[in-house]
Order: sequence, then C-alpha cells, then structure tokens
Amino acid sequence: MAALINIPFFSLQRQHALIERELKEVMQRVTDRDWFVLGEELKAFEHAYALFSHTKYAAGVGSGLDALTISLRALNIGPGDEVIVPANTFIATWLAVSHVGATPVPVDADPVSGNINVREIEDRITSRTKAIIPVHLYGMPCQMDEVLRIARSHNLFVVEDNAQAHGAMFDGKPTGSFGHCNATSFYPSKILGAFGDGGAITTNDESVYERVCKLRSYGSIRKHEHEVLGLNSRLDELQAAILNLKLLHLHKWIDERKIIAECYSNELRGVGDLVLPKTSARCSHAYHLFVIRTAQRDELKKFLAERGIETAIHYPTPPHLQPVYKNAGYEKGDFLVSEELAATSLSLPLWIGMRREEIEIVIRAVKDFFQ
Ligand SMILES: *Cc1c(COP(=O)(O)O)cnc(C)c1O
Repeated sequence: MAALINIPFFSLQRQHALIERELKEVMQRVTDRDWFVLGEELKAFEHAYALFSHTKYAAGVGSGLDALTISLRALNIGPGDEVIVPANTFIATWLAVSHVGATPVPVDADPVSGNINVREIEDRITSRTKAIIPVHLYGMPCQMDEVLRIARSHNLFVVEDNAQAHGAMFDGKPTGSFGHCNATSFYPSKILGAFGDGGAITTNDESVYERVCKLRSYGSIRKHEHEVLGLNSRLDELQAAILNLKLLHLHKWIDERKIIAECYSNELRGVGDLVLPKTSARCSHAYHLFVIRTAQRDELKKFLAERGIETAIHYPTPPHLQPVYKNAGYEKGDFLVSEELAATSLSLPLWIGMRREEIEIVIRAVKDFFQ
C-alpha cells in the first residue's frame, strides 16, 4: 500500500498546468518575434523585475553564479581582496568570490535562523575586506539592518545573494533591494524559476548597472566596441518571456508557499526533537525551502522515503569542507553551527499545487516516526 504514495520533494508540473495556455502563447510569441538574445522580452522582464525588487535597475544574466561573479566584478573586487560570506550556504556564494580572484572569509551561522551570524562579522573584517555577501537562505531574510550598519561603518560593499528569497521582505522591503548590487538565480527549482538556467542583478547605482551590462556581453554595450574583459552571460528571450509570465503569479504563489509552511509549522510544533523554521516580526519568509532539524535526520529521511515521501538535504557538506576548498586549510570543527546544521537539516516537500491531503500525509508520517 505504502508504495502507492509518491510525494516528490519538488515538482513543477502542477504550477505549469495552471498557466499552460499562457506558456504556449509566450513561446509562440518568442518564435514569431524571431529574436532570441538581448531583445524586447528581456527589456520587459528587467523592467518588471526591477519594480518587483524595488530597485531602479535589473539586468538579466546567465545564472545565479554568474550574477554573483559579475556583481563582484562590477564593484571592482578582485585578487588580494577579501569578501565575507556565510559558512552555511550553497557553494556558489563562495565560488563567485574565488572566481574573481578574491578570498571568501566565512562567518558561522546564527543557530536560530541558519543565516550569517551578524554578531561575528566584525571579528572577520581586515584591511583587505571589500564586501559582505549575506545569503537569505531557504527564503529567510538576513538581519539586513545590522549587515548594512556594519558595512557602512567599515566602508564595505554589500552584495545580497537573493537566489533563494524572491519575494521575501525585511522591515517591509524586498530582499535584493538592500545591497549595492544584488544577485539572484532563476534556476528552475527556485521560487521564481525559468525553463533552464538564468539569473539577474539588481541595483540602484547607474554606473554599476552599466558595468554589469558590459560584463554580461563581451564587454560591450555598443556593437563592435569592447571596453572591458567581458563574458557571455545573458538571460535569453525565451527565459525572460517565461519569467515575466510567472512573475505575474508570483505573489499568489508565495502566499501558497506560506500556507503550506504554516500547516507544517502548526502540526509539527513540539513533535520529537524537531526544530522548526523561525521567523521574526521584521521578516517575511518566502519559504523556498521548509527545513526542519532533528538529531535523527538520516533515520527520518529513510523512514519518509519508505513511505513514498521524498525529502532533500540543504546542504550535507558545508563549503569549507568541500574538496575544492581543501587548500584553504579549513578543518572539521571550524564552523560548528554550520556543521551541526549540515548534520541535522532536512527539507520537506514544498511546491505549488501540493494538495492538502499530501501535506497531511507528510505531517502524519513525520509524527509516526517520532512515536
Ligand atoms: C541556486 C543558488 C545559487 C546559484 O544559482 P545558479 O543559478 O544555480 O547558478 C547561488 N546562491 C544560492 C544561495 C543558491 O541557492
């Protein structure tokens, strides 16, 4: 019987079924326009995404990693510089810093939010520090007032990594609007996802915006004139058109994510040793992921899998313990909170179109495990 249940960790099928006709129209429109890179669709999406983000400018790029890398380059961060990053994040945050030749300087996680511990940032600032990259992990905003205060008092740039937090708010302002230059991803599983890779940079600074536009396209904004060592990293017309369509539905879909999260939170409170996501009065969590914590994480994951419920781990190994950073000299025990989170976190299924019964099956199974 149990084998009949199959609740995927993530699926886009029901979200896309809701907009099937519009999706087809959009794809036809792009085909008819006969223009596929840096055109009107991108312009329209960038305009809409800047409005959504409460910033003056948005520039589409090829991925979230590229958005971070180009942001750092647009701010002239490079070899010899240090950039403060969270120890607890997806590795792309660190990779971007390494790609520009700078050094990622990790700060451990706050044990409650899982985000960068703002009380530990100042200890890691040196004369070489140029920027802080706060990551709004799982859709939970960082304490941006503190991050900005520290950045201001040490004359540092802030580059938000907003890949997981489209639609999240801190003090009523959207994440991705606080930094000098902010990066996001439209990887398909993100809150706002394309039909492939994609990303964007948001900023209020016109000169940063212009540098970003050059860097994403061979160092050029005028044809045949190449001013800087640019890349080829653009959000194509088809992705831009699809994202623009999805953006129309995004607030409603974020509300749906919050309702699912609320069901989980209400029903799982006090169950076993579970630690549930916490929000605060100043934060509006967008619930890219619903991450619970338990000392019996691996056993719970296995138990749920046997009942046909797929879960995921974000992330099993923190960046400082990954082979790619072996030469940086980190050891197990260097960032205890992040390592503890890596050992205890489990992400439950959460996607648009999940039915009440499916949410209840997940809740029932988690409760059964602890009984
Ligand atoms: C997904 C993600 C990225 C990278 O985005 P891509 O589009 O996959 O390159 C960067 N940072 C965080 C926190 C992410 O979750």
